[in-house]
Amino acid sequence: MTRNSRLYARKRALLMALLGDRCALCGAGESASRPLEVDHINGRQWAITRTASHQRLKRYLEEAKKGLLRALCKPCNVREGNRGNQKWRPGRNVSY
Ligand SMILES: [Zn+2]
Repeated sequence: MTRNSRLYARKRALLMALLGDRCALCGAGESASRPLEVDHINGRQWAITRTASHQRLKRYLEEAKKGLLRALCKPCNVREGNRGNQKWRPGRNVSY
């Protein structure tokens, strides 16, 4: 493990702790079969594919402190996924 990936893991753990360390829908804690993922409650306002992972994490931490994020386990996030994708459109839906 490189120094950077250790730092990343620590920041990710901090982020998940901010989000309560469990799924906002079903209440499951993080496990190998149910990894927790970050979900934007009102849709993401920026393009994830154009943002480097460390920048993304920094952004998530800022958004988590503002209450814009929640943690979802993978099965719940997949179920919510279609709805989430419909919420976010580039250049639209930018005021909240
Ligand atoms: Zn869940």
